[in-house]
Amino acid sequence: MNYYSLHHKSPKTTFKNAVVEGLAKDRGIYFPENITPLPKDFIANISNYSNHEIAFEAIKQFVGDEIPEDKLKDIISNTLTFDFPVVKVDDNIGTLELFHGPTMAFKDVGAKFMAQCLEYFNHGNEEEVTVLVATSGDTGGAVANGFLGTKGVNVVILYPSGKVSDIQEKQLTTLGQNITALEVDGVFDDCQEMVKTAFLDEDIKRTLTSANSINVARWLPQMFYFFFAYKQLHKEHKDIVFSVPSGNFGNICAGIMAQKLGLPVKHFVASTNVNDTVPNFLKDGVYTPKPSKATISNAMDVGNPSNFIRIRELFNNDLKNLKKGFSSYSFSDSETRETMQKIYEKSGYIADPHGAVGYLGLKKYGLQENEFGVFLETAHPVKFLDVVEETLPVKVEIPEQIKKVINNKKVALKASSYEDLKAYLMS
Ligand SMILES: *Cc1c(COP(=O)(O)O)cnc(C)c1O
Repeated sequence: MNYYSLHHKSPKTTFKNAVVEGLAKDRGIYFPENITPLPKDFIANISNYSNHEIAFEAIKQFVGDEIPEDKLKDIISNTLTFDFPVVKVDDNIGTLELFHGPTMAFKDVGAKFMAQCLEYFNHGNEEEVTVLVATSGDTGGAVANGFLGTKGVNVVILYPSGKVSDIQEKQLTTLGQNITALEVDGVFDDCQEMVKTAFLDEDIKRTLTSANSINVARWLPQMFYFFFAYKQLHKEHKDIVFSVPSGNFGNICAGIMAQKLGLPVKHFVASTNVNDTVPNFLKDGVYTPKPSKATISNAMDVGNPSNFIRIRELFNNDLKNLKKGFSSYSFSDSETRETMQKIYEKSGYIADPHGAVGYLGLKKYGLQENEFGVFLETAHPVKFLDVVEETLPVKVEIPEQIKKVINNKKVALKASSYEDLKAYLMS
């Protein structure tokens, strides 16, 4: 499969190069040249297939012959080692729980899949690849865990000192081996800036790549979730509306890819916190990125969502067309907390702040009689323990995955400027 840059100034490239490079030379993100719908009877008989089989069918055309089928199947079975249940919280609303993985946020799937692709493509090479990633919390843990022990790949994670939760910090600083954590004296935007500077610095001779959702190997496996939800719900014979709590818009964009592959989805709702660049764009047709604002659903604090350009491409860059299949709404922190309380009172379900924003999106959309709404629960409530326990009369039980890291010893290098990162990368 070939991929083209959405800035249209770099030549087309292979899946392998798109994974290894991350971003094209013209700084555009990659997009697959073709999307071929899956056979109709595969979709109609989806309950006859295992999750591993569904994932293989969904992704194989995007990998093409660059990874042998058996190897791709191994990669999938090493990635999908847990469940993705839809839990009903209302007559016509369910939540797709994506948090049963090792770091309890949905990014586990993309990170693990990408790590194995990179390992496969780099085998036999003398030179190691360095994955450089800035995190405001969840990405760091998922990448650290997903890449742990990956041969030929070193990972450097930059995180803002004092700005991630204790659990998140433990998840990214305690693993050791090929994972190095850099604790940056600054905010997330400083970490991001340091990573960008490193990519442009010609003194650095290491091969660098990134592991955020611009990378096709982290983005595409997120399609699987939407198939898994459909597999559980298609017997209800209702039209499915997905609401996806969105920050960089990678997850929802993968959902639209699944729809392109033939998955029956009536409508997509991109639910955001007050970082409302996309809702505003849908309202007035002008795309105005802005600095991010801090909220209680902080994994979505993004002012310039990197994957939105892929969504526009999927709707042929036509706003009218986009609005037919896609809505986007923004919600405040107080609305989010009220909704966490409402969901809990009604059903006993503990939603994390991101999931609650997703639920609000379905309410605002206004489900019709024949529609069933699914909001994605992108993280376990334990990952946002302070907010959840402040807002709801509950004590969240600490799951096994978290107990495992919470008492481990934090090891992080300190960095106060780009020079510190550069010195590390040159050593
Ligand atoms: C990353 C993340 C999001 C946002 O996902 P995007 O693909 O960037 O839109 C939402 N919720 C949680 C918990 C996350 O970690």
